[in-house]
Amino acid sequence: MGSAALGEAVKGITAWAMEGSRRLKPPVHVGDVFGALAFTDTVQQARLPKPVYKSLRDTITRGQALDISTADAIATALKDWAVEHGASHFTHWFQPMTGITAEKHDSFFNPTDDGRALAEFSGKELVRGEPDASSFPSGGMRSTFEARGYTAWDPTSAPWLLMNGNSATLVIPTAFVSWTGEALDKKTPLLRSMEALSAQAVRVLKLFGSHATRVTPTCGPEQEYFLIDRHFYFARPDLINAGRTLFGARPPKGQELEDQYFGSIPERVLACMAETEAELYRVGVPIKTRHNEVAPSQYEVAPMFESANVATDHQMMTMETLKRVAPRYGLACLVHEKPFAGMNGSGKHVNWSMGDDLGNNLLNPGDTPHANMQFLFFCTAVIRAVDTFQGLLRMSVAHAGNDHRLGANEAPPAILSVFLGDMLTDIFEQIERGGARSTKHGGLLDIGVSVLPKLPRDAGDRNRTSPFAFTGNKFEFRAVGSTQNVAFPTTCLNVAVAESLDAMATELEKMLAATRGRTASRKEAFNDAVAALLKKTVKLHKRVIFNGNGYAEEWQHEAANRGLLNLKNTVDALPQIVQPAVVKVFEKFKVLNERELRARYEINLENYSKTINVEAQLMVLMANRYILPAGLEYQKRVGESVAAAKAGGVPSKEGAKHLAKVVGLVDRFRAQTEKLAHALEHNGGSPEHHARYMRDTIVPAMAALRDLGDQLEVVIPHELYPMPTYREMLFVK
Ligand code: ADP
Ligand code: MG
Repeated sequence: MGSAALGEAVKGITAWAMEGSRRLKPPVHVGDVFGALAFTDTVQQARLPKPVYKSLRDTITRGQALDISTADAIATALKDWAVEHGASHFTHWFQPMTGITAEKHDSFFNPTDDGRALAEFSGKELVRGEPDASSFPSGGMRSTFEARGYTAWDPTSAPWLLMNGNSATLVIPTAFVSWTGEALDKKTPLLRSMEALSAQAVRVLKLFGSHATRVTPTCGPEQEYFLIDRHFYFARPDLINAGRTLFGARPPKGQELEDQYFGSIPERVLACMAETEAELYRVGVPIKTRHNEVAPSQYEVAPMFESANVATDHQMMTMETLKRVAPRYGLACLVHEKPFAGMNGSGKHVNWSMGDDLGNNLLNPGDTPHANMQFLFFCTAVIRAVDTFQGLLRMSVAHAGNDHRLGANEAPPAILSVFLGDMLTDIFEQIERGGARSTKHGGLLDIGVSVLPKLPRDAGDRNRTSPFAFTGNKFEFRAVGSTQNVAFPTTCLNVAVAESLDAMATELEKMLAATRGRTASRKEAFNDAVAALLKKTVKLHKRVIFNGNGYAEEWQHEAANRGLLNLKNTVDALPQIVQPAVVKVFEKFKVLNERELRARYEINLENYSKTINVEAQLMVLMANRYILPAGLEYQKRVGESVAAAKAGGVPSKEGAKHLAKVVGLVDRFRAQTEKLAHALEHNGGSPEHHARYMRDTIVPAMAALRDLGDQLEVVIPHELYPMPTYREMLFVK
């Protein structure tokens, strides 16, 4: 009962307000607890023999292979550290293609002959695990008779302790690969793409005279989410099983007053956030900001940026921790892209840049003309990458949940474009017009503005409608969905930019070779070549730059004129992953081979159809077992009331009209439920065909049923409607 859940929620909220807050532990000192439960660099340094530590650092910072004797020493230190903190088990933690994380816990302890238990952990156990993983999706890469998959320790991401009241488990981040070495997870391609990007970026840096030897893509993923009272959550089968509401009329007050955005955070929610953050600090996740988001009961949490790989692990831990801590405060955390129709959806803004091993952010505009030239080179490479691989990037964020966001009028459009801001756009326009050439004096590059003005990084220069925005010293990929593992979108970005840098470096090298011996000043020749290359590249790819309103109808036409892709839904976007140009570049950089890409295509396609199927089945269930009975009950009451009036000699004209309305609505609702149930019997055809059927037949049938259900909801009396409403779920907190 909606009212029953409301009653319970109110009781809980009142109790919390009166005494719950008094039970809160005093605030933690972040400096004291940060990383206390992670096997951080500091711990490694303190606990590992010097040569072992050095060899591990070389592996982490330079990607050098680790030998097994080193692994034994690390395993022992790791086990001792974990056991001292109360750990009994360890797990190889991995990120299969399901999009969530997986873990299987094994005990450190082995029985001894004399009846004791001894903690043991070998280098081999640290480095490699063999989970029984035959049920994870492999997209046909691994038939069950050769079902073995291996987890391989990723030393670049620190192990940490999962504390769970009465247990502590050592969590070891790993990659998951098949018997034949094919990637069965999201981490393996990410690590490979980071290598590819590093190699190409270092090559470019060398041309610019830098001594950097390694470049790391950096990532700061912002997470949007909803917190609602748990009583409401449990009273909604759709939230429990689909993560979003499948029915629900818009409340009289939605988000139009915009009184939520950056408003003060309710006390219980703040307490929940603080505990979530405290847990994350302990395992070394550098949470930085929190605030209210646009929709009621919507919030955001963002970390300091880190290496893309570590950031990805930490992002998964952030989602898991949010969901794990919320119940302690009587709340449920919803990370779905669209839990509530008509309200702002949730995204995951992936801030992305590249940093070299000398501490420079390669997307930071420089202080000298030379530094600026280098900045413009990298910036141009990203613009070129987004244009060249629009389809791939669009695909990387495509899934059923994100279809409710992208292209709807409150999230970035489905068209990939780059927002640069006025100042940088102006600079690129000057480059294109040929303003960039070297001057006689001093051989410096004159690009109209010899030193870039400081680009503003404040909110004033923001364009929330852009799916890919430059924000001062990084790009922000905003089309990523809130439930998504950021690994794959980041992998695609890394690969696309690596390809751009490769192509541009090759061209630059050719241009330089052609001028060799001809020009007096090499510096001048270099500047001229860069200027010419940037001019040419900007000309070719500027169509992807768009600073206007991405929500506007005109942009759809304008983008079509510019020849930009507009892949409106998952089914349209997914085939991009197996486009020849994509396969070619993924194979060239050894990130994924065609089989591995095809596997991902199949898994994503199947996942789409399965998601729609579950949601549609749930709608039929909710229609038949929740909404229809309430509608019939109300119809009966109205019927009795109309009959009573008539029997009393005062027939009610309005009553009869109302009865007709209720009967009509209930009838149509029932008929549409039947129709959807019947449509779901569809079977067979290729996976592509089935996915298209889900999109073209099931999704519209769901929308029609929802519309009727929502009309019924506002007719049925509160005490008869069997589920909490939007008004309750979003505003009672
Ligand atoms: P802004 O106010 O412009 O959004 P913030 O510093 O608040 O800038 O950053 C927002 C997010 O972007 C944070 O998660 C932050 O860690 C991340 N970020 C900042 N610099 C970088 C970078 N160089 N690479 C990747 N992410 C970054
Ligand atoms: Mg943001």
